Amino acid sequence: MPLQIVTVPCLGDNYAFLVHSPETGETALVDAPEEFPISQALETRGWSLSHILITHHHGDHIDGLGALRAACGAQVIGAGADAHRLPKLDLAVGDGDSFDFAGQQVQVIDVPGHTIGHIAFYIAGAGAVFTGDSLMALGCGRVFEGTFDQMWASLSKLAALPPGTMVCSGHEYTAANARFAASIEPDNRDLQTRTAAIAKARADGTPTVPSMLAEELKTNPFLRAGLPGVKAILDMSDQPDAAVFAEIRTRKDNF
Ligand code: ZN
Ligand code: FE
Repeated sequence: MPLQIVTVPCLGDNYAFLVHSPETGETALVDAPEEFPISQALETRGWSLSHILITHHHGDHIDGLGALRAACGAQVIGAGADAHRLPKLDLAVGDGDSFDFAGQQVQVIDVPGHTIGHIAFYIAGAGAVFTGDSLMALGCGRVFEGTFDQMWASLSKLAALPPGTMVCSGHEYTAANARFAASIEPDNRDLQTRTAAIAKARADGTPTVPSMLAEELKTNPFLRAGLPGVKAILDMSDQPDAAVFAEIRTRKDNF
């Protein structure tokens, strides 16, 4: 039986995810923005947490962790590199590590940029990657601690996963991201189609997260910095991919 993935809206515009194995009964939480919506989502389903996975140290991804851990004693897994500023870890992981969850391999991918110790969790058996504030739906996290080069390298690693991968990211920023994306590629038909779908989903109160990697590759300007067409639009045809990414990210910061 496949793993079930549940999106849990938290705070104003955060998402946490529950990953549940009907076979073993285990449930993993990815990120803990706040306790209540998560404990409620667990209670409704009769699930209890066995694992808590943390993508990065920001409060809107960890502030609910203490209370959730106290309630269930789940194993907490996060980046060893950030252990000094994360809640106490039971398992410290780094790039290339993998661990077992309910008989499935969870692969750790180092994705620095937004923060230095930011990691993503890829579960090939579930066809899903949990990206926190690295790759987001139609966007990417602001580059706070790392460099543009690091963030570009991080996004490139995620972009190389199978296109059928579901991207479970940490925020509902998609409608604003769509407005920005249109400023970079106004003639991108796939982007226009996706923007219409996003507007409809938001009007219905439906989350736009998770998204599919294939769709991100066709529409997310931050993944498209290496394409000759995008470079030409920005008049940067002779520039390296990372420089084009830096230009797009800087424009977004000032959008
Ligand atoms: Zn963050
Ligand atoms: Fe965040």
